[in-house]
Amino acid sequence: MNYELNCLAFLACCAYNYFIMEIVIYPAPVLRLKAKPVEEIDDTVSQRAEEMLELMYEAKGVGLAAPQIGWSKRLIVKDVAGEKIDDKVFINPVIIEEKGEVIEEEGCLSFPGVLGKVMRAEQVVVIAYNLKGERLEFEAVGLDARVWQHEIDHIDGRLFIDKMSPASRLAVSGRLKELEREYQKRQSSYQISAPSKLKADV
Ligand SMILES: [Zn+2]
Repeated sequence: MNYELNCLAFLACCAYNYFIMEIVIYPAPVLRLKAKPVEEIDDTVSQRAEEMLELMYEAKGVGLAAPQIGWSKRLIVKDVAGEKIDDKVFINPVIIEEKGEVIEEEGCLSFPGVLGKVMRAEQVVVIAYNLKGERLEFEAVGLDARVWQHEIDHIDGRLFIDKMSPASRLAVSGRLKELEREYQKRQSSYQISAPSKLKADV
């Protein structure tokens, strides 16, 4: 009996962990917050970063920022094919140089079904820390530069729809409204299952 109870508790715990580590979908308010710097690289930071990488690969993305899992910290993970970097986790990243301009189609894991043209710098120089606390400098071009800019925007509470061309923004407006409605629906269903509401119903 005890063994069964232990198993149940373990399963509930796993299910809960799995539930919290999911990609936050627009228009969740956390996506609009300016994230706080990571002050210390402890086990929680390393573990969450690893889980973020797994989540990003599962979703077939090339980048994911901490606010996209509801964690308002200046940490991103990215893995762009062809980049000459071993690190995949970047802490407190800052763009220190931008060059050129290029318009390309862009998507975001927090905006399922939304694609639009966004102007970005063609080249960037970025400073960030890795999980060992080493300060690194990267020069990036093309898709790699785009991913840096997209993810660093996330930790500043800026979203790619803010920078979308007017034509693209118009084209995706219907889908954005749909995502807003779906979010409202999820919010009200959470309220229904909240303990205080259940108690009131009884
Ligand atoms: Zn994004």
